[in-house]
Amino acid sequence: MAKPGGDQAYNDGQSAKLQIQASEEQVLGLLDEIYEFEQFRREQLTLRKLCSYLKSALTTLEAHAALECFGPQLWPEATGAVYLLHATGDHLERAASWGDASINRQSLARQDCWAMRRMQPHCIRDTGSGLLCGHIAQSSGTLPSICVPLIAQGQLLGLLHLQRLKNVSNASQDGSSADLGLALAAAVVEDLSLALANIRMREYLREQSIRDSLTGLFNRRYMDEYLIQELGRAQRAKRQISIVEMDIDHFKRINDTFGHSAGDTVLKEVSSILRAHVRDSDVASRIGGEEFLLILAESPLRFAAQRAEDIRGAIHEMSLEYEDVSLGQITASFGAAAYPDNGRTADALFRAVDEALYSAKHAGRNRVVSAPLPA
Ligand code: GH3
Ligand code: MG
Ligand code: MG
Repeated sequence: MAKPGGDQAYNDGQSAKLQIQASEEQVLGLLDEIYEFEQFRREQLTLRKLCSYLKSALTTLEAHAALECFGPQLWPEATGAVYLLHATGDHLERAASWGDASINRQSLARQDCWAMRRMQPHCIRDTGSGLLCGHIAQSSGTLPSICVPLIAQGQLLGLLHLQRLKNVSNASQDGSSADLGLALAAAVVEDLSLALANIRMREYLREQSIRDSLTGLFNRRYMDEYLIQELGRAQRAKRQISIVEMDIDHFKRINDTFGHSAGDTVLKEVSSILRAHVRDSDVASRIGGEEFLLILAESPLRFAAQRAEDIRGAIHEMSLEYEDVSLGQITASFGAAAYPDNGRTADALFRAVDEALYSAKHAGRNRVVSAPLPA
């Protein structure tokens, strides 16, 4: 026997159940939105922090360190890398990376990336039908990825590459989060490109201010500063430093006979010989018209004199032509002096090396003279 009002109660119960279900779905939807908004807010906060560090970065190394620090926070489910275009323009080298190191290659060919070829972001959301870049490893080719070219003032600098660490099963969720990833990647790339362009401009201007434009060697101002710093270091570490001063013999005659441009050619060729005879830790500078100075770190006087002798021999053997006319034999004279034996300050060392060079000129040129040891 049916209870009185039984059907009605049953129907009311069902409709209440449906209402609760609908409310639950609404709440879940709202929670999703709140979660997404919260995630977006956190991303924006991290992005602002990254941008502020990038603006303050003084070197490319600092800019890349900032990206390695904030990259995993911005893309916790992705592995990422920044590649910079090599000077040859045909390949890119990894400058920063985070996430799974095995996915990020050390270098990649420029033509292996669609983003680099088209100078536009290249995004793979649907890995079944998307065009995969050649640089993406076969093993990870099934995962969504984003490549965004780094471009500043119309110049292609490199690439930001992001790749999901694992696939997301829900297709629509996958699509929407890949879009969000692209917008975020584009924002990061904009900040990074600007920072890298500023750093390069600063480095270029600094290079200009410390180099001699004709020979590419360091200039007098840089050499003066460097010698003072090196003397401080040598003093603390109780080490020796040597300096070698070189002056081309009868250079005025070369200018007068063959012209100023021929003289410039001699200066450039002699500079190449100097460059070939110094180590990375040494400094070769042009300190005047046809005068050069080498600072040889951690070298006693006899090493410096030997180095000067090698350079003297190389210049003596050089046979140079300018506009098909032989410039004849070119020679140079050298003075060598060392810290601390010949002087403890930059001024005292310069005096000692000048006197040694003067002696070399006076004794007939084309020779090396070392400063005498104090009595
Ligand atoms: P010494 O053997 O005694 O050193 O004689 P020198 O002729 O080399 O010495 P001097 O100091 O009389 O001549 C140096 C010349 O270098 C004079 C100057 O015109 C020339 N000179 C200076 N700067 C440059 C430059 O940038 N290019 C060229 N071509 N010549 C320069
Ligand atoms: Mg001179
Ligand atoms: Mg000279």
